[in-house]
Amino acid sequence: LLFLLALFSSALIYLCYRRYHSTSIIKFLIENAIKQNHLVPYYQAIVDADKQQICGYEVLIRWETKKGKVILPDEFIPQCEENGAITPLTFQLVNTVAKDIRKLEMLHHGKPLPFYFSINLSASVLQDPELVQITREALQHYKIAAHNIAFELTERSPIKDIELAGKICQQLNDMGIQIKLDDVGNGYCDFLALQKLQATTIKIDKIFIDELDCNNKNTIVSSLVAFADKAEVEVVAEGVETTEQANCLLAMGIHYHQGYLYSKPQPFSLICQEFTTDE
Ligand code: C2E
Ligand code: CA
Ligand code: CA
Ligand code: CA
Repeated sequence: LLFLLALFSSALIYLCYRRYHSTSIIKFLIENAIKQNHLVPYYQAIVDADKQQICGYEVLIRWETKKGKVILPDEFIPQCEENGAITPLTFQLVNTVAKDIRKLEMLHHGKPLPFYFSINLSASVLQDPELVQITREALQHYKIAAHNIAFELTERSPIKDIELAGKICQQLNDMGIQIKLDDVGNGYCDFLALQKLQATTIKIDKIFIDELDCNNKNTIVSSLVAFADKAEVEVVAEGVETTEQANCLLAMGIHYHQGYLYSKPQPFSLICQEFTTDE
């Protein structure tokens, strides 16, 4: 028995050590990637399908390694949320996006851009009062208007202190920054959350768009549209991949679309190129 006990406890110690070690290695790698500017924003257009024009971009982070590999956020954002690196990462991203907006404005003859850049916020970052200061400084430093930046609140980790989050959203809102609720349909979205977080837009998750069928009632999406009407918020549909889906959404009154049908997330250099050829 003693032998078994000893074996069991050494196995436990080993497992704890490995887990500690691997999380601290990941933390080290991520902190290094932040320092070396290897975490870069990609941009995916959000279009007004009615008017056939771009109304915004979602900022989607990518990890570009030295060897030229691109790592997707699902492989490192959850770890960053766990080890706290998500906060410096997001603060750096706010600055990079502001810098990119400034560059686009220069390509636009110094005129303000007629669209927004929506940055994903994990719950813990939304509960960090420093966010407001960092954002304000980035706007001032790059001389850009607040309506060019928006934040979307992801539901991966629940907001623990909704009162504090609400206060921070209020301050962002006072600055002129819009708040969007992401992945709606499978989380906490209700009137109270919308109101507390001052949200002006809901984004319907791709899983519901995948299931759209024009010959059917599409109960979930219709009820989200009815909800948005009552709450007086705008609706964006995510993951639009086919013209059938686009037409179905338009018929339901949803005209803000995001998805591969229109454009994939692209590095900033490509956004600049499109911008100069469109002029
Ligand atoms: P999300 O916020 O729901 O972002 C939408 C995801 O759907 C993106 O995946 C996007 O590339 C993908 N997508 C867009 N249109 C289509 C489509 O038509 N078809 C398909 N199959 N996919 C489409 P991505 O870029 O891999 O990002 C995954 C998630 O990582 C995001 O989901 C978001 O929750 C998180 N994330 C990304 N960047 C950041 C960030 O800077 N901070 C935080 N906290 N989370 C981030
Ligand atoms: Ca999002
Ligand atoms: Ca989403
Ligand atoms: Ca999603």
